[in-house]
Amino acid sequence: MPTAPDALTRRTPAGPVRDLVVVLGDQLTSDYATIRDLDPERDAVVMMEVREESTRTPSSKQRTAYFLSAMRTFAGDLADRGLPLRYVSLDDDANTGSFEGEIARAIDDLGPERVRVVEPGARRVLETIEDVCDDAATDLDVLPDTHFLCSTEEFMAWRDGRKTLVMEHFYRSMRKKHDILMDGSEPAGGEWNYDKQNRKAFRRAPRPPAPYVPRHGDVVARVIGLVNRELRDLPGELSALPWPVSRDQARRALAKFIDERLPRFGDHQDAMWTGESTLHHALLSPALNLKLLDPREVIRAAVARRDEVPLNALEGFVRQILGWREFVRGVYWTEPGYESLNSLRAQGALPEAYWTGDSDMRCVRECVGPVLERGHSHHIQRLMVTGNLALTAGVHPDRVDAWYLGMFVDGVEWATIPNARGMSQHADGGVVGTKPYASTGAYVKRMSNYCEHCRYAPTTRTGDDACPLTTLYWDFLLRHKERFGANNRMAMMMKHVEKIGPDERGAIRDQATRTRVRLGVLKGDS
Ligand code: SF4
Repeated sequence: MPTAPDALTRRTPAGPVRDLVVVLGDQLTSDYATIRDLDPERDAVVMMEVREESTRTPSSKQRTAYFLSAMRTFAGDLADRGLPLRYVSLDDDANTGSFEGEIARAIDDLGPERVRVVEPGARRVLETIEDVCDDAATDLDVLPDTHFLCSTEEFMAWRDGRKTLVMEHFYRSMRKKHDILMDGSEPAGGEWNYDKQNRKAFRRAPRPPAPYVPRHGDVVARVIGLVNRELRDLPGELSALPWPVSRDQARRALAKFIDERLPRFGDHQDAMWTGESTLHHALLSPALNLKLLDPREVIRAAVARRDEVPLNALEGFVRQILGWREFVRGVYWTEPGYESLNSLRAQGALPEAYWTGDSDMRCVRECVGPVLERGHSHHIQRLMVTGNLALTAGVHPDRVDAWYLGMFVDGVEWATIPNARGMSQHADGGVVGTKPYASTGAYVKRMSNYCEHCRYAPTTRTGDDACPLTTLYWDFLLRHKERFGANNRMAMMMKHVEKIGPDERGAIRDQATRTRVRLGVLKGDS
C-alpha cells in the first residue's frame, strides 16, 4: 500500500532546491521526464490540492474525490520511492486554496533555481504558472506532454494549409504513421472505418459483463470523508468511488475491458438502455486523462486481440484513442480562443434537471442520474441526450462546458471543451464537426428503450404529449434556417423545414418557447 499523504510532510524538503517539479492532478505518471530526471539530492516535487479547482467551475463530489484520491495514491508512490515531496492537502491550515498561491508559496519556501512542469492540460493553468514564475523571477521549463502520440507541433503541421479539419483524415495519418491496424499500406480488413456496423440497438443483446470496480483502502476512504466534510456544497453524490485511482487498478480495469467487453464494444457503441449506464463502453477515459494509463499500452492491449475480437469493435475502439482523443487535443491547443466561441449565439441557462436528474423526460433522468451518482455517462448519452437537449434548447456553451467539465470524472479542459463546445454544441461553427449533432426523439426511440417508459411521444412535435427533444429540434432548425440552409450536410433536413407551413411553424415556436421556459433555459417573460 502506498504511504498515506498525511505522512508525506515528513519527507518535505527544507530547501533551497535546484528544480521544483510541479505535478498537476492530471499528470500522475512517472513516465514524464520531470520525474525521470529528478535528482533526489537536489530537486523536489510539489503537489497541491487546491479548493479553487473544485469551486471555480463547480466540480462534483465524485470528480473532486477521484482527482484527490488518485493524487494522494501517486504521491504515496513517489514518497515510497524516497523522492522529496511537498504535498499540500486541502485541509492544510497554510493552504492558500489556489494554484497561484501554492506555487508561489513553494517557490518562497524552497527557493528553486528553476520550476519544471509538463505542459498542463488547460491554457489558464499554464498562464498561471508562467505568471507566478515571472513574479518570482524564477526560470520556468515547460516540457512537452509525451503522454500523447501526437505533439502540438505535429498537429499544427498536419493542419497547416487545410481548409477544414476532418478527424477521419487525421486518424488515417496516425494509423499509417504508427502502423496500427495496418496490413502493409492498407487498413486492416480493407476499410478504414466500420462505423456502419456499430449502430445496433441493444434490445436483443446479452447483458454486458460488469465493469471493473476497484477495492479501495484508507486513502480513498479518507478522501471521501474529506470531500463530504469540507466541500459538502458541491453537486452530486459521494458514498463510494467506482474508479481506478492507481496505475495497478487502471491496468486491471484495462485488462478486464479487453477480456470481457471489447468484443461487443462496436456493436452497441451508440445504444442506450434503461438502467444500463455503461453497456460495453471501456470506462477508461478517467484513468487515461489522469495519465494512470498510457494510450500506447491501451492500443497495444486491444490490437493484440486482433484474431479474437471483431474488427468493427477493435477499429472503433482504436479510433477513439488514436483518432478522436488526439484530434480534440490538437484542436484545443491550435485554435486560440476556442473556449469562448459561441457561433450559434446561444444565451440560455442550463436546465435545473442537469443538477438534480429530476425530469419528466425519461431520457434525461437516465442520462443525468449516472452523472450525479458516479460522475459518468457514456458518449452517446452525452452527445444525443444531454448535449442534444442543451444544443436545441439554446443553452450558452459556457454553461454546457462547465457542466461537462465539472460533473464528469474524466473532465479535463483539452478534452471536454472541444467535445462539449465543439462537437456537441456546434459553438465552434464546425471546426470539429461539419454539422450539428441535433436530433428528434425518434433517434432516442431507435437507439434506446427510454421512450417506452416516458410520458411523451417521441415523434410528436406539438401538443400535450409532444416530445421536448422533437419540438426543440424543429424549432432549432427554424431559428437557424439561414445558417443551416447553406450547409450541404443539412440539405435533406432543411428541405423538411421548408415544407412546414406557417401555422405549424407558429405552433412549433410557441411550444418550443414554453418548453424552454419550463426547462429553465429561458426566463418566464421571454
Ligand atoms: Fe426522451 Fe422524448 Fe423519448 Fe421521452 S419521448 S424519453 S423525452 S426522447
